[in-house]
Amino acid sequence: MKKLGRREFIQLTTVAAAGCFVGAAPNVQADEPIKLTADDPQAKQLGYVSDSSAVADTARPQKQPNQSCATCSLLQGNVGDEWRPCAIFPGKVVAAKGWCTVWAPKA
Ligand code: SF4
Repeated sequence: MKKLGRREFIQLTTVAAAGCFVGAAPNVQADEPIKLTADDPQAKQLGYVSDSSAVADTARPQKQPNQSCATCSLLQGNVGDEWRPCAIFPGKVVAAKGWCTVWAPKA
């Protein structure tokens, strides 16, 4: 086995230490929920918008003024959060002020 010189030892330990930090660093982006956009294929199918007040009555005649994700029984998560999970769009979060054609009243 080759003996390491002082310079090689320092280089190797520096690289190894850096690897430990990279491996231990939290992956903030992976933990961040994906915000649903109107461009999402499923969102398009269900007429999702992130701002229900921007929905024109003529475009979506079934939408009533009091309807938004915040008043929908399918919205999950914490009351008051701006973006919350929805049972219809697993793995993503929807805007509390959003809306889609699946809107269902709370019981
Ligand atoms: Fe919003 Fe309800 Fe549609 Fe989910 S199902 S996007 S909470 S309106």
